[in-house]
Amino acid sequence: MPDLRVLCPSIEFDNYATQPCPCGYYNHPEKDCVCGPGVVKRYLSKISGPLLDRIDLHVEVTPVKIEELTNAERPKVTSTDIRERVLRAREVQAERFKDLKDVYSNAQMPSRMVREVCQLDDTGLTLLKTAMERLQLSARAFDRILKVARTAADLAGSTDIRIEDLAEAIHYRSLDREGWAG
Ligand SMILES: [Zn+2]
Repeated sequence: MPDLRVLCPSIEFDNYATQPCPCGYYNHPEKDCVCGPGVVKRYLSKISGPLLDRIDLHVEVTPVKIEELTNAERPKVTSTDIRERVLRAREVQAERFKDLKDVYSNAQMPSRMVREVCQLDDTGLTLLKTAMERLQLSARAFDRILKVARTAADLAGSTDIRIEDLAEAIHYRSLDREGWAG
């Protein structure tokens, strides 16, 4: 069964998962969704709005064949490597917010700080502006994208938000797209 899995910042390391449509096969690589026109959109609109406001990362998880998991020459990145990368990114963020009470991570950053901490270069600004327009992203997505892009840069050990960090963050707002299931 395909599902949409999203990470919720208010429940750290936990996640919220939902089916993409009532039958569960919307966007499935091999099976056909049997939901009628408009059904998927109506279904997803029930989880949009206030709930999506509180979620940083929207990740669509489609089924993967078992042979793809076993055959693929995957990069040898271990959980330990990833853990270290996360811990380093956490340290960077702790240092960034050391003068603020009760703020330890980018996700907790007050909105007044976002423009200062999450600066983009001209290319980045153009990309974000284009994405906002083309994907019809909601205004609420704007700060989220910047914060998530900052986190992607922190994880990569970069002092600047690079174009790939921004692109990654935009990708995580897929459920804000008006065109989803449209
Ligand atoms: Zn369906």
